[in-house]
Order: sequence, then structure tokens, then C-alpha cells
Amino acid sequence: MKKTFPFAVILLAAMSAAGAEEPPRSAPSAPAWMKEASGRLEKELAVKHGEEARPRLARGLKQVAEFWRTEDGDAAAFEEFVRTNFAGDSKTLDTLFDRMEFALESLDGHMLEIGRDFRKQSDLDLGRIYPFDETLAGYDPSAHVTEDFFSNKLAFSVLLNFPLTTLQQRLAEGEKWSRRQWAETRLAERFSKRIPAEVNLAIGRAAGQAEQYISEYNVWMHHLVDAKGQRLFPPKLRLLSHWNLRDEIKADYTDAATGIAKQRTISKVMERIVTQTIPDSVVNNPQVDWNPFTNEVRPAAEKDSDAPAPAGRKAGNAPEPDTRYAMLLKAFQAVRLADPYSPTAPTMIARRFDENRQIPEARFRKMLEDVLSSPLAPKAAALIKKRLGRKLEPFDIWYAGFKPRGAYTEVELDEIVRKKYPTPEAYKKDIPNLLIKLGFSKEKAEFLAGNIVVDPARGSGHAMGAARRGDQAHLRTRVEKEGMNYKGFNIAVHEMGHNVEQTFSLNEIDHTLLAGIPNTAFTEALAFVFQARDLELLGLSKPDSKSRALTILNDFWGTFEIAGVALVDMGVWHWMYEHPDATPGQLKEATLRIARDVWNRYYAAIFQEKDVPLLAIYSHMINSFLYLPDYPLGHMIAFQIDRQIEKTGAIGPEFERMAKMGNVTPDMWMKHATGAPVGPEALLAETEKALAQVSP
Ligand SMILES: [Zn+2]
Repeated sequence: MKKTFPFAVILLAAMSAAGAEEPPRSAPSAPAWMKEASGRLEKELAVKHGEEARPRLARGLKQVAEFWRTEDGDAAAFEEFVRTNFAGDSKTLDTLFDRMEFALESLDGHMLEIGRDFRKQSDLDLGRIYPFDETLAGYDPSAHVTEDFFSNKLAFSVLLNFPLTTLQQRLAEGEKWSRRQWAETRLAERFSKRIPAEVNLAIGRAAGQAEQYISEYNVWMHHLVDAKGQRLFPPKLRLLSHWNLRDEIKADYTDAATGIAKQRTISKVMERIVTQTIPDSVVNNPQVDWNPFTNEVRPAAEKDSDAPAPAGRKAGNAPEPDTRYAMLLKAFQAVRLADPYSPTAPTMIARRFDENRQIPEARFRKMLEDVLSSPLAPKAAALIKKRLGRKLEPFDIWYAGFKPRGAYTEVELDEIVRKKYPTPEAYKKDIPNLLIKLGFSKEKAEFLAGNIVVDPARGSGHAMGAARRGDQAHLRTRVEKEGMNYKGFNIAVHEMGHNVEQTFSLNEIDHTLLAGIPNTAFTEALAFVFQARDLELLGLSKPDSKSRALTILNDFWGTFEIAGVALVDMGVWHWMYEHPDATPGQLKEATLRIARDVWNRYYAAIFQEKDVPLLAIYSHMINSFLYLPDYPLGHMIAFQIDRQIEKTGAIGPEFERMAKMGNVTPDMWMKHATGAPVGPEALLAETEKALAQVSP
């Protein structure tokens, strides 16, 4: 993964402990004198700077007016500001652009460094975390930057002189823009919203509550009993919904004796969660036994934990009172408060698609539907049926049996890696070598290695890029006392892929305002290019074509599953915007209807079963606010990039060429990288080939 600060976390960090006022619910409006003053200034300054300046002037005045509030100053202050700060000649405009680019690189880079240092103890494997370390880690030094820039009017200087654009404009005109024009667009975009602190606070509070609700939603598996009182799962096993529950379904494919009974039980538990027929008392509670089929609850007949029954939940078998949907509604109500302050993306849906993903929702939906309605899906399903030797059941959307068995055991691989990398330093020293093996020149490999710091991670590992040239990317990897194991190596290679992307897209870019990639799916895809070659990097034989084909089918099936989940997430957000005053009960009914509709349309024929609500189980739906569509997008992009690299046969130079494009629209980036816009075609083409190879 790539270490980023998701917006919920940023907002949480911005929260203060003091009691908050109710955030405003009405749209901000420009002061009454604004229109007249703007008109007068446009005339006056067009005379001063010439008619050719007028379109830019009119645009700038409109953009400033959109964000100017009474507290920013009266009409005289506004006029004085515009007269002083409109860059009427190209020299001043160029100077303003250069100055902002230079200053923002410094600001972003140093803020990132401060944040990284403040999180050092909690991110790295350096011993005990004290309470003050947690406070340091939760602090975001850049939380008030945008507010400050509106207060001191630097934001208005940018808005007066550079264009705010919509995604539609960037898509329609962007290919004709110069790199400087693109950089100007990104510069203005930084000030495309002015969200009051109390709104951010409300969003942060709702996000925090949703996060808390999800993070404690465990099921104690040993306490799931069937009609005969039998227990399928071992003592102490506590699974977090939905991640662990889903992964247990995946793992159960290797359990020939009781796997299917376990899978059916988990599937029933998931259904109880999304329909909220789950007894409130069984959530995160090892003190009761529960039969999810009959829904009967009893005091636990076996004890495997001292954890007490959680406070605040109803006793007996009273159902959870739609809390899941109440959480989502609260989050929606909070997120919606930001809408009036974000004129170029005035809904959360627009912010996710137009700003974060930069792909219009309609086109995005079409890509998902192309995967879901592909004739390859029933073919893959038939193959799964054959491999399982039984008819499919709904939980087989999580079929995990395509994963090829490698030529080496995990123990053998651990042994090899441990000898090679006893310490993080040993890995660090080997980076130039590894990069040369991936096809980078010796010179490039040394340049890259010089820009990557290796740290011992506390968790499984992550990559943290730099934000100013002169700083370095950080590769955080887990090294056990007895040395690095294979899993750690596999992750380190993935993170190194992120670091190489980060280094190229910052240090070799023409404008730092364009540093980075269009969205996170791109850096993940680039990291997977490295990760997929980990065995070759150890000097072992690479996977044969059969296991390559199986891996492709595994990815296709995963995309087929998560594309449906994404459609449900999108459908629910639209429904909430159309029914802003809904009750939790109404949202539940709507969510179930949407989930069943998507199921009936794309899955029912394949699984021979209708009205299954399982697609609504993802916890991201409740605490990550329309994030799920990123997953299928990531799969599609990974296939496009991988195919291009396979075609040219050279990872190093090709990787560098792609990564230097920077943060333009995804389609522009992908056309530059592969000749085609973002889409599912590469995934589908590879799947078709793989099916032909694996099918009986
Ligand atoms: Zn990653």
C-alpha cells in the first residue's frame, strides 16, 4: 500500500476538543456590493491592461467573488485587492506562477516531513508507543493551511489569475493544453473549495464515529452454533466484519471437511448484518452463543474469552436497531455540509469522481458494467463450478481457488530471503542491484537508490513518498529478529515500486505542481509491476504460463465481484442525495433493494439464485464514503500497465517514461503510457486468453 492520509483522518486531526457550534446549513452568498464592484473593476482594468486581458480578468473576478466573504473585507478592500493583485502583464503572471510553484513545493514538502517525523515512533518499529506519541501522530501541521491562505489572500491572488476548471473542461480541452497550462489548473484547484472549520469538524466527527463503529464490529466465531449446538470454528477466533469474514470464506476453500459448512454460516452472518436482523447482543460479544440460521441467542455454553459483553447493546435477541444505516446517514449528512463550499464539485459524488478519480461517473459506470456483463464471467463461473465439483453458491463471489501454488514452499522462500536480508540495511544495500535486474541502467538505479530511505516498519510495511525535491522517499518494511521473511520481501518489493514511481514523478517532472499520478490506482498498478517479479529478483524461476493464467483469472474474478460492490456503493449515495431526509430504516430498505437489483442483474443467472443482498456487506460503505469504486479501477489499470510493459519487454525505461507524466487526467496519462484511455479492455483480453489456456 501507499501511505496517504485519507481525508477522514486529516479532518479528524483538524478537530478540536472544544464543543462545536452547529455548522451552517445554508449556502454562502457573496456580499451584496460584489456584482457592481466587479463590473466596475472589469471596465477599469480592461482599459488599463488592454482588451486582450478582459477574458482572464472577467474569469478571475468571478472566481474571487465566488469565495469572498464579508469578513474578507468591504467593497473598498475588495477593489484595492483586485487592483493590486491582478497580474496584468505576462511577466508578472509568470513571476506569480513561479513563486507559487516554488513556495508550495517547499510548504508541501516540509509539512510532509514534519508529519513523518511526528509519526515516526508510531509508524516505525522503535519500541514502546507512549500516549504523547499518539498525540504527536494524530497532529496534522497542515490542517489550517488552506484557511490561512484565504485569510492572507494568497488564495485569492491565485483565483484572480489562474483558471478553475471542471473535470468536463479538463477532459474536453486538456489534451491541447501545454504543461504550464496544466500546472496552472492544478494550482488553482488547490483553492477550489473554502470549507469552514466547523463543517470540517462535523465531517470529522461523523467519520470518527463511523470508524469506531466499524472497528469494533467483530463476530466471535466459536460462539456460532448450529441446530445441534455444534461449533465449526476454533475458540478465540474473532473476525472483524467484513474483511476477516470474507477472508475466512476464502481460506475455507482449502478445508475439504467443513469448509462449505463454515462458508454457509459466514454467508448467513453477513446477510444478518446487512439486513440488520443480527441480534444486537451478539456483536463483539463472546458471552453469548448464536445460531445465525434460527437467530436464537443463549448465554455462552463455552468460555474462550474474558472480554465482557460490550456496553450499550441490547440484551437477548432484539435486532440491531439499524445502527449500520444510522451511521451511514450521519456521515452523509455531515459530508453534505461541504457541498455549498465546493462550487466546481458540489456533491460528494462529484468530489469522488471528478476530483479524486477524475473520471466522469457515467463513463466509470460503463466500465464496471462492461466487466459485469462480459460473456467471460459465465465462462469463468463454469470453470469454478468444475474445479469445485458442485453448483455455485452466492459466497463463491469470493472463490479463491485460482491462486496458483508456487514452485517453492513458503518455508524455502523464507530461508532464501532470510539469508539474503538479515537486516533492513542489507535490503537497502541491495536496492541498486534489484533495480538493475528490473532493467534500469546502473546510473538510474543508483540515482533511485539514493532517493530511497529504508526504515523498519511497525506494521506490515508502506511507502511514503517525498513532496519536495531534496527530500527522500521512505520504504517501510518489516524485518523480523531472525531476518526478513518472504512475505516481508514481497511487500518490500511492492513498496519499492511505489518509491520508484514517487521518485520519478517528483524529481524528473517539469512542473512540481504536476508531481504524482492521476489517482492512487496508478501508483498501486506500478507497484504491482515490481511485486509480480519478486521471484525473479531472488534469482528463482518466474511463474510458468499456466500459473500466470491462473493469477489472471483470480484477478478477473476479484474484479467481477468488486465491480458489483462498487455499483451498490454508488447507487446508495445517489439514493441518499435524492432522499436527504430519509430515516435509517428507509436507507436500509433502499440499500437492500439496490444490492438485490445489482445482484439480480449481473449475478443471479450465474449463481442460479435471486435477491441475494451480500454485495452490501463491505464496511467501506459505512466508513470510507464512496471509496469502493477505486478497487475495480485499480485492477483495470494494473492490466493496462502490465500489458504495455510485457509488450515492450523493458521495465526500467518504460516505467520511467510512464511515471514522469505526472498528475494529468487518467485518460491522458494512460494514452501517453499505452496508447489507449483507461478501460477494462486489457483485463478482458487477458482473461479471455487465460480462460482458453486453463479451461478443460
Ligand atoms: Zn501499495
